[in-house]
Amino acid sequence: MADLTTTLIHHPYVPPSGFEAPQPGVFKASTVIFPSVAAMRHFEWKDKSAYTYGLHGTPTTYTLEERLCTLEGGSQCVLVPSGLAAIALVALSLLKSGDEVLIPDNAYGPNKSLAEGELLGWGITHQYYDPMNAMDLASKINERTRLVWVEAAGSVTLEFPDLIEAVRLCQSKKILVALDNTWGAGLAFAPFDLLPGQVPELGVDLSVHALTKYPSGGGDVLMGSVITRDPALHLKLKLTHMRLGLGVAANDAEAVLRSLPSIALRYQAHDASTRALAQWCLSQPAFSQVLHPTLPDSPGHRHWQALCKPGMGGAAGLFSVIVHARFPQAQVDAFCDALQLFKVGYSWGGPMSLVVPYELSIMRSQRPAYLAQGTVVRFSIGLESVTDLQADIDQAIKKALI
Ligand SMILES: *Cc1c(COP(=O)(O)O)cnc(C)c1O
Repeated sequence: MADLTTTLIHHPYVPPSGFEAPQPGVFKASTVIFPSVAAMRHFEWKDKSAYTYGLHGTPTTYTLEERLCTLEGGSQCVLVPSGLAAIALVALSLLKSGDEVLIPDNAYGPNKSLAEGELLGWGITHQYYDPMNAMDLASKINERTRLVWVEAAGSVTLEFPDLIEAVRLCQSKKILVALDNTWGAGLAFAPFDLLPGQVPELGVDLSVHALTKYPSGGGDVLMGSVITRDPALHLKLKLTHMRLGLGVAANDAEAVLRSLPSIALRYQAHDASTRALAQWCLSQPAFSQVLHPTLPDSPGHRHWQALCKPGMGGAAGLFSVIVHARFPQAQVDAFCDALQLFKVGYSWGGPMSLVVPYELSIMRSQRPAYLAQGTVVRFSIGLESVTDLQADIDQAIKKALI
């Protein structure tokens, strides 16, 4: 008879199979047990036909990967510990010394920091292009260009680029296109099928998603994904992912699995409130511009309209205002601080509304002519009552922007 300490670890009880519940189980593992040495030698994790080690996947992470593929219309998915890690995984998997990456000037800031830091240090160069000028992108593509990033819409100034044109251009030059799809979330448009019905399909090569935002929906999980439709491209990502030792925690994967069924409803709710508030802000003299792709005067409105058709459609939960240039920075900061329901904080996609003032001069290589002078303030709209949110912005304007 084995000692109690041993029996507690090697316990003979095996629960009956066939348990089903609405939520998948949470499988936590570093070690995965093989039935035999022969199985250990032959089990393959790359195609998800088996399990070999916690870092390489568990039933929980495989399940989340498959559901995210369904959300975004892709075939393969890699999970990483944050949205930024997903951006970095793309760069590290696909670029080598001597290559060049093109990044839109309005891109998510840390993507640019990675290019200016590690990538440059490893001999990988970059250029920033104007997301609203296809000619500028075309003119920057050269024989060293291996990867082009696109973002629709930009997450601070909300310009909506001509994604279809950019993808066509890159395809004609055989350059990979990676989309940061956090804003669209697989709900505003189909990243791998931008013109539904067209054969062959026109789409990006890679879709990166900060699951931290809408898929999590709680403001309490950090995770990212990279989705593809090309098995060879996916394998490159998987191998780099393995060599870097990137993994996600099962409890975090479970949190995203728990929120995923409600993503479309939440996205719709964020979207409806955001449109209403953006529209109301247009009437406020303290703001010289309102940036939101559904507004006819917002940069790239036409492109949003062409891509995000009713049925899919949607425009997420972000909008920005440019506070009139007559208000100095300190007064704009006071406006943000005067808000009661909107909290000062990064990220978006959760239940709580957030606000961040941005200093464009340190974020952009140049300030585009389509943006008015003045300080950009970005609102991330949560799930509170839209009437209360409007009243909050109204009282903060009356208090600080006079
Ligand atoms: C938040 C965000 C990311 C990064 O996600 P993290 O999980 O915070 O690292 C990437 N891209 C966009 C557009 C984002 O908004």
